[in-house]
Amino acid sequence: MSESLDPDDWTAFRALAHRALDETFDALQAIRAGAPWREVPPGVKAALDADPLPRTAADPSAVYATFRELIAPYAVDNRHPRFFGWVHGAGTPLGVVAELLAAGMNANLGGREHAAVYVERVVLEWWREVFGLPPGTTGIITTGSSMANLIAVLVARRRAAGAAVRTAGLAGAGALVGYTSSEAHSSMGRAFDVAGLGSEALRALAIDARRRLDVGALRTAIVADRDAGRRPFFVAATAGSAATGAVDDLRAVADVAAAEGLWFHVDGAFGALARLSSADRELVDGIERADSLAFDFHKWLHVPYDAGAVLVRDGALHAATFADEAPYLLRAERGAAAGRPWFTDFGPELSRGFRALKVWFAMKAFGLDALGASIERCCALARGLGARIAREPELELLAPVSLNIVCFRYAFATDVDELNVRLAIELQVRGLAVPSAARIDGKLGLHVNVMNHRTTAADLDATIDAALAIGAEIKRAGRSQT
Ligand SMILES: *Cc1c(COP(=O)(O)O)cnc(C)c1O
Repeated sequence: MSESLDPDDWTAFRALAHRALDETFDALQAIRAGAPWREVPPGVKAALDADPLPRTAADPSAVYATFRELIAPYAVDNRHPRFFGWVHGAGTPLGVVAELLAAGMNANLGGREHAAVYVERVVLEWWREVFGLPPGTTGIITTGSSMANLIAVLVARRRAAGAAVRTAGLAGAGALVGYTSSEAHSSMGRAFDVAGLGSEALRALAIDARRRLDVGALRTAIVADRDAGRRPFFVAATAGSAATGAVDDLRAVADVAAAEGLWFHVDGAFGALARLSSADRELVDGIERADSLAFDFHKWLHVPYDAGAVLVRDGALHAATFADEAPYLLRAERGAAAGRPWFTDFGPELSRGFRALKVWFAMKAFGLDALGASIERCCALARGLGARIAREPELELLAPVSLNIVCFRYAFATDVDELNVRLAIELQVRGLAVPSAARIDGKLGLHVNVMNHRTTAADLDATIDAALAIGAEIKRAGRSQT
């Protein structure tokens, strides 16, 4: 027996690996035939929970069999064409291959001189070009937009508070405050919290009828904060809100930021990708003026979880926010420790996986035109869905359809919030469709995010037909109870 962790029997191991790959693709090929969500049976949860500490070896094929039995069947399942909950990407078979290849290389992209680093650099450079940011812009691939938003806030904080913030903290920085809208993602407030600024230092300002940041309210808030002796330093616009897909007027927000000397951040987690759609690209005009931009690859680009990115216009400031040198991380002119700047200079982490490879594969193999066409199709489907809901007397649209998200509810006469939550649950547990339930201006309803490249108009029609039928059923049951 070998003492390493490599297989003793490579032939058997290869057979298992090939089977695992085939069965992964079997599942993906048959995805439509299954349900978009299956409850994890109590026995399965118990078996997973009670699994004892594995001291001794098991045959990898036995471990794989357990995966097949207990884990694989009970996905959420955002791969399915009738999964519409929250804001989830669907993945692709190609992404599976890219993840396999990245795992095979086991590259660490914290830094050093190797080809993987050049892949991440070129991927970020491609997105810089897509978004129209200038040369010199830096970036880093992150786990997602939450981390990207945090990195952006830290760079903006470094600009506002100076180099001393890295050593002495925020004590001498004054009361730094920032702005966003009430429609912004919770990760923006969390970034302020984690950055030591406090989530209340990020003002959640009013929105207009299209759920965009009210730019007048922004100007007023800046004046009020300055009058009170505070230091406005940051504004985050949202390009595609997670709640309704609303897109702020990026140019108007950029104008205020420029006039007031604020850092202009765009949280474009998924909406930024509308830049790839020829029909919808103008919605995000002004994105090229961002000081920093957060966006995801695991949502509308459908790379497997997880991957997002942040771009920062002032590359020198970006590095000045994070770079340091430890005596065991010396950079060199040649050899394996060359390759400056290292990605660890652009974020809080040292070791980082080769997430860039799955993004590189998707961009090259699908091409941005096809990826953009897929995004455009989603937006058109969402507009069609909004139009149908507006025609259905039993249904009420809860927000304008700006991008790809449609929020609506069944107009029950009583207990409307509670019954809409039940409607969402019934659709899920019957395996018909997975909308999520969300509250818009105090009204609870169903949230349908049309993001999946596998979704068709027929899927949306079937979902509305089912919502109407189950809604009527719930209404009848309610009546017979009274
Ligand atoms: C999803 C989302 C986030 C958070 O991104 P993660 O990739 O889940 O960390 C932030 N902002 C918006 C608008 C989002 O849709």
